Amino acid sequence: MRKKVIAGNWKMNKLPNEAINFIEEIAPKIKNTENEVILCVPYIDLFYSLMAAQGTNIKIGAQNIHFEEKGAYTGEISGSMLKSIGVQYVIVGHSERRQYFAETDEIVNKKIKAALKYELNPIVCVGETKQQREQGLASKVIEEQTKKALEGLDEEDILKVIIAYEPIWAIGTGETATVEDANESIKVIRNQIEQIYGKGVAEKIIIQYGGSVKSTNAKELFNASDIDGGLVGGASLIPEEFANIINAV
Ligand code: PEP
Repeated sequence: MRKKVIAGNWKMNKLPNEAINFIEEIAPKIKNTENEVILCVPYIDLFYSLMAAQGTNIKIGAQNIHFEEKGAYTGEISGSMLKSIGVQYVIVGHSERRQYFAETDEIVNKKIKAALKYELNPIVCVGETKQQREQGLASKVIEEQTKKALEGLDEEDILKVIIAYEPIWAIGTGETATVEDANESIKVIRNQIEQIYGKGVAEKIIIQYGGSVKSTNAKELFNASDIDGGLVGGASLIPEEFANIINAV
């Protein structure tokens, strides 16, 4: 059986002292969970969060990575840099990065490969816009994004990847996908992975749902057959709320 993986995406929120306080507050509340818990924090908070999370069941992730190892890329952070301080996860291809920072499927693919090269587990986001869903294109879009993101990955690497199905219209809007729609879309992704890597891999790979997950809808979503936890934005900023989401299943 697949485990549930609950990851928080703090986006551009929280100063180092706030990150430390958050981790100290939430750690005792979630210490008995069997779910995997990840906090993806801003670069500036990574080191402090890693220190604060020592001895807890909280793992720390970044929100972005550059695909080159080093060089003249002002303002960028590489996989080897993240790995060197003990980061374990990195979000790749979040819709906000695709939309505001022009990340293409090709760049997403390169970033995934860079993450894997440095033994970081990428959390790869895919999802359709409202217009694409209304036009009946949702499945096609997420199939294509999944295929392009994973292009060239071998079987050994694929199970180090977590996929997050994040319909763009549900991110930060309060409008959550229905459990049925979310589960169906995740099945589409799982089928796509089955076509490339076979049934064994498709049954094992972790696929989360993301988009306005809250403590009030987490249980229903995470109990669906194909939803293996969530990528949580806004609700991961409040310790009580995020703890309730983690403890929902
Ligand atoms: C996200 O940023 O990945 C996200 C799902 O945000 P929210 O939970 O706020 O919709």
